[in-house]
Amino acid sequence: MTSLVDGKNNSRDGESRQTEQSTLTDHLDLADDQDDGDRYDCRETYRNFELEAEDGETADFRCNSWDCYCCAHRMRMNLVEDLDRLIAERPELRRFLTLTLNPETAPESQEDQHRYLTERFNALRTELNDEYDGLSYVWVREEGDGGNPHLHLLVDRYVPQQKLSVMSKRVGLGEVVDIRRVEARNAAKYLTKYLTKGSLWNLPKGARRYGSSADIELSVRGGDGDSREWDLLMDDYEILAPESDEPLRRGVTSSDLVRQRENGGPVGLDPPD
Ligand SMILES: [Zn+2]
Repeated sequence: MTSLVDGKNNSRDGESRQTEQSTLTDHLDLADDQDDGDRYDCRETYRNFELEAEDGETADFRCNSWDCYCCAHRMRMNLVEDLDRLIAERPELRRFLTLTLNPETAPESQEDQHRYLTERFNALRTELNDEYDGLSYVWVREEGDGGNPHLHLLVDRYVPQQKLSVMSKRVGLGEVVDIRRVEARNAAKYLTKYLTKGSLWNLPKGARRYGSSADIELSVRGGDGDSREWDLLMDDYEILAPESDEPLRRGVTSSDLVRQRENGGPVGLDPPD
């Protein structure tokens, strides 16, 4: 299970949180992010979970889900940071444009809209690559207010707006009203200013949040190169050890993840005040 494997990268969470904080103030205000009722916080929901390495070292478990307040925030900040890095390295990525759905052909449901957007964007990429050999780009998906999914892109060269718009409509997307050149130092902000509330974590499962041409690598999770095996263990408060009355420490199963998510915290343990 990926989430368990990914969890091992979080042993340095305290350290990275400070970096995130400064990036955060540069880019956006998260003051009202807690509003979303559908989200949880794995620091609370899975607080009885712990990762343990073969040599006995332990680390906090982080679920790395975009539904998780704490993890979505961290992953988003990592993405912002990585985009900053990318654009510093590739200053030619400074043509900014937005791809939208054509309201007349777009499917009804939000989930279908995202799927359709992905599909049509793939078709557009094929057309663009035919015309512009080796085109480099990076994109971020946005939910849009009241369900209006769209993609923001930075591309590495000028494509005439008219031409782009014709291509876009031909593949079933909306017209492209604007392709603008942005200052290299502002380019990351153009893309990431849309990573505001709801832009990344309300998406249907499986919808990718960001991506790039094959020559560009983006990393959100930032592995720390740790190759040790980690076990995910939990304190099971439903099974108290006979003598000590302590919760039983055992391996976590996928149903534990589901149950605790539903329960909003460790099963068998009273919620904290
Ligand atoms: Zn989490």
